[in-house]
Amino acid sequence: MSRIAQVIVDVPSRGTDRPFDYIIPESMQGWLEIGSRVGVPFGPRTLQGFVVGLSMESDTPAVKLKPIKELLDLTPPLSEDLVELSEWMSARYACHRITALQVMLPAALKGKAERYIRVTDRSEWAERGSNLQRDPDELVLFESADELTDMEAQIVAHIQKQQEVRMEHLTRKFASHADVIKQLLQRGVLSESRSIRDKVQKKTIRTVSLHLPEDEIRTIIEEFPAKARRQKEVLTFIADTGGEIPLKDIMTVLGVTAGTVKSLADKGYIVIRDMEVFRDPYKNHSFAPSQPFVLTDEQQMVYNAIVQRLDTRTEGEFLVHGITGSGKTEVYLQSIQRVIEQDRQAIMLVPEIALTPQMVERFKSRFGDHVAVMHSRLSSGERYDEWRKIREGQALVAIGARSAIFAPFANLGLIIMDEEHETSYKQEESPKYHARDVAVHRAHQHGAVVILGSATPSLESYHAARSQSSDEFNPALLEIHGRALGSELPEVHIVDMREELKEGNRSMFSRPLHQAIEDRLEKKQQIVLLLNRRGHSTFVMCRTCGYVAECPNCDISLTFHQRSNNLRCHYCGHAQPAPEICPECGSEHIRYFGTGTQRVEEELAKLFPGIRVVRMDVDTTTQKGSHEKLLNQFRDKQADLLLGTQMVAKGLDFPDVTLVGVIAADSALHLPDFRAAEKTFQLLTQVAGRAGRHHLPGEVIVQTYNPDHYSVVHASRHDYASFVREELKHRQVLSYPPYCRLALITFSHEKLPLLVRIAENYVQMVKDHSHKLGWLGSLERFSAEALDVLGPVASPIPRLKNRYRFQCMIKWRGDMDVARLAEHISEQLQDSVRDKDLQISIDVDPQVLM
Ligand code: ADP
Ligand code: ZN
Ligand code: ZN
Repeated sequence: MSRIAQVIVDVPSRGTDRPFDYIIPESMQGWLEIGSRVGVPFGPRTLQGFVVGLSMESDTPAVKLKPIKELLDLTPPLSEDLVELSEWMSARYACHRITALQVMLPAALKGKAERYIRVTDRSEWAERGSNLQRDPDELVLFESADELTDMEAQIVAHIQKQQEVRMEHLTRKFASHADVIKQLLQRGVLSESRSIRDKVQKKTIRTVSLHLPEDEIRTIIEEFPAKARRQKEVLTFIADTGGEIPLKDIMTVLGVTAGTVKSLADKGYIVIRDMEVFRDPYKNHSFAPSQPFVLTDEQQMVYNAIVQRLDTRTEGEFLVHGITGSGKTEVYLQSIQRVIEQDRQAIMLVPEIALTPQMVERFKSRFGDHVAVMHSRLSSGERYDEWRKIREGQALVAIGARSAIFAPFANLGLIIMDEEHETSYKQEESPKYHARDVAVHRAHQHGAVVILGSATPSLESYHAARSQSSDEFNPALLEIHGRALGSELPEVHIVDMREELKEGNRSMFSRPLHQAIEDRLEKKQQIVLLLNRRGHSTFVMCRTCGYVAECPNCDISLTFHQRSNNLRCHYCGHAQPAPEICPECGSEHIRYFGTGTQRVEEELAKLFPGIRVVRMDVDTTTQKGSHEKLLNQFRDKQADLLLGTQMVAKGLDFPDVTLVGVIAADSALHLPDFRAAEKTFQLLTQVAGRAGRHHLPGEVIVQTYNPDHYSVVHASRHDYASFVREELKHRQVLSYPPYCRLALITFSHEKLPLLVRIAENYVQMVKDHSHKLGWLGSLERFSAEALDVLGPVASPIPRLKNRYRFQCMIKWRGDMDVARLAEHISEQLQDSVRDKDLQISIDVDPQVLM
């Protein structure tokens, strides 16, 4: 039996980023496991921590070892494989171990220490007397309650009655007597203890059941005194119904008070207890059960390849490249079915769960209550319960965004990542992990299969599948070329907006798009309209002098919010009233551009009187369930046109949509991001895939100022292969992923000169280190040819929240632990500067370069 536990404590700092040894008290022997959550003394505080190892001995001198204070859960919230995964993550993404552990758990389990107060035991006094360094005479003073003032006695009595009260409660109850409480604590009459409490409690309902055998109860009912008619009724009801009955139900059905029921409990006939229940966020939804389709030949081939691995229980990765509407989801569903039959579990990742109600519906219809939905819009209590269903083995399939990759299944058989190219799979704050890499690692741990699916795979995955060059990630490529329902991909027309302008059309709608919309309205078919808003902002500009309102704290223009009529900074939250006249030149011609989609909506109403529009953007989808409501409205044909940003491009499957319009295809093309062309191609392909998915043929109209750009041209021909060929050429020439890996290092500080010096030092140190052999005692070689460092330069957002920002980029090829190098240098610099204000953040494999 282990005596010592290694614990990672909940302080995300460099000094505490290692396991600390604690003694396992006897009472926890047999309960404490790797993955247990514990409360431990740490300096003067009590902190939450996670057990990451167990041992017999400790290197820490015995006198310094303290015992673990409390065990917070009966079942450890983390399994051993997740604990191991956190170690891998902290190395790969240069993050603190605790940050990696925390991201795996629902927020509800982020416990915080609370203070409890009780009346000090007399026996304890004697024992603790010396420690407390109190005058021994003083102790005697409290031997009798007479020595307490009235107020003191009142407080002591209050606490004694409840044995233990929360500090918060006490200070509220005796609000004007904080001094008295403090005094009592100092004198040792009261003592405090600390304990970790979860933010969210398990939900319970009060239930009632029989306490005696039923025949005995029947006799009791017979002999009940006549005047206790109500009690008799209640007891009969409980005996007749049997099992555990919610107390509420008894009260409503029989119209009795809780007191009546309780008096039966007092007599020992029944027991009242709190039973734990799961909150079910989908309890008011009904899902019509769905049967598996007979697969098409292409689907069948993909399915067979996957099942071959599943049946032989061999791990492996697949990249399913299937055009939009090719029926990838059906392949996922049937593969999961197979895994469930093998008594294993599956994780289904989607880019953003709020945007994919249709996906959730298909999963609930197929697998019913076996599905746990990990949804950011659920309350933290609901989220906690969905998580517990997984941990306790009640759910077999978890569906959710990025963080669902940590679903604590014991026996994982399959991980599916739909739309694997989406950037939302990368977390932008620490731990800056990519769900794809985590998926591959978890699958290795479990001998599970990974399926990456997309109509437009990321170049990284596609290249890995084609070249089979890496040891870690070698997906086998499976392709589906036809649509499941046999329909053709829609025809795509490119409209050159420069020509439109030349011919005098200043509207945001080109003539072909205008005509097509009119046509569909007449035919009563539906339309999806995409406004690509990346790169567009909704700023305030003076038309006389060109003044643009900017945030005083960040170098970025302020966004106009129509509802509140003010200007806000999206980064720091700064808000100011919208000006009536230009603050620079005094002109009245200052214009507010409302959100792009709002303007399009207004324009639509003007051009097509009576058109029914559903607008989906950040403004209309802030409320829980609002996406679903809007989409249902569109599905039920209460609207002719669905207008929106990126949100409308993905995953939607509406049979009557025959026209897709793209207002500004190229607005993201010129962003300073080497993936700009790839993102544009993906978005156009995805949104085009919304048209003509079922029996009616579809048409797509793309408006652009760059009609010859290869991303636009290839997307219009549905030609992924040609796009990839051309894009890979560019990447190779400029040396960008997938031909190398990147790490983005961002420095920030309030003082610019210091910041520049730090950034320059950093770059120099990377260069110096890369020439050394055997760096940090490892045998890896950081060869100068394979490693390159660019910068430092000012970040694309050069100032944020009053802090200046600089960055540099490390590029490398081959198998080098650059994360460790970057972290090591960062630590050296932090140590030499000793300025708490300096922040250095490391982003390995960054997705967003801004
Ligand atoms: P993808 O996820 O590849 O875009 P979907 O899975 O949404 O494609 O499939 C497109 C449509 O085809 C859906 O309406 C789906 O119900 C239907 N479908 C998929 N597979 C089959 C099949 N084997 N037989 C009949 N219909 C199918
Ligand atoms: Zn002006
Ligand atoms: Zn700001």
